[in-house]
Amino acid sequence: MVNIIVKLYLTLTMFRGILITKDGDELFGELTIDDMAHFEEKKIDDVEYIITPTFFNSHVHLGDSVAKDPEFMELEKLVGPYGFKFKVLGKASKKELVSSIKNSIDVALNSGTSALAEFREGGVDGVKLLKEADEKNVCVTFARPSSVDEAELTVEYNIDGFGMSSVRDHDLTFLEELRDFARKNRLMFAIHAGERDDGDVEGALALEPDLLIHMNNASIKNLKNAMDERIPIVTCLRSNAFFNLMNQKNYQILLDYERWLIGTDNVMISSPNMLSEMNFASYILKREKKIFQAATAGFDVFRYNHGITIFHTNGNLYRANSLRSVVRRANTNDILKIINKELIIE
Ligand SMILES: [Zn+2]
Repeated sequence: MVNIIVKLYLTLTMFRGILITKDGDELFGELTIDDMAHFEEKKIDDVEYIITPTFFNSHVHLGDSVAKDPEFMELEKLVGPYGFKFKVLGKASKKELVSSIKNSIDVALNSGTSALAEFREGGVDGVKLLKEADEKNVCVTFARPSSVDEAELTVEYNIDGFGMSSVRDHDLTFLEELRDFARKNRLMFAIHAGERDDGDVEGALALEPDLLIHMNNASIKNLKNAMDERIPIVTCLRSNAFFNLMNQKNYQILLDYERWLIGTDNVMISSPNMLSEMNFASYILKREKKIFQAATAGFDVFRYNHGITIFHTNGNLYRANSLRSVVRRANTNDILKIINKELIIE
């Protein structure tokens, strides 16, 4: 009886296998969980578990979770200022919006993501909805006010920054004022640019943003200018694919950029599941280690602690023993548990 109890205790607290660090290095050994998580490197015969940091979704719009899977439309028609998305959102009740945001946060958490950079539309009301839905406080909140007065109101809701659409969609003077306001209040200023073409990139760069979303169709010159300024850049591959906006040339440059991040973009188009995003990215980019790094780099850029995900290898990951397998094929069913403890590597 005692033996059984000891054995049970051990199986619940010790995990033998491979640890993939945040930088994508692969270590073999044993993870022991007590008040902290210790990983001891040692020779092992079998990989029973694959242990990774949790993931950071660096760009998501949770608000359109209520309008899933529209038929194909061009970018402007679907998510532009007067497009389909905003018509559907305008008709949804507050209750429907909050419950679908909550559901999307659960999808993210259950698939090994522990933090999301949420680009909230709808000014102060939008921020209020998010704060109501984000019960576990896992969202980095980027608000989208329509005036500096409204920006002042959003600050009272403990936001992290402002997340603006393309410079094409806003008044430039307002963007400049908001940029100054962000600086004064030590908030991040993020903007979408170079998604469709290079036309809005120089305007975005002139604002000296702290974070750029997309840049997949920026000119090489402007992409490199942004990288020289060390501005973190988020790519959303499934979203680019949906809108027929993929561009290998820019992706191949971004792959070697240490401030490259990935995100899942509009929930109406892609699930907020970073495993699915990595699975897809691996077939397009074929550089799994870089993809893995981009899925965890948000913890450094946004200064968040990561957790630990333990994948079992009984099903889909049977006989898998590398980072490549996690990136190419891991899914939510492969996750045994997610632990919010500091990881010490010994
Ligand atoms: Zn976006």
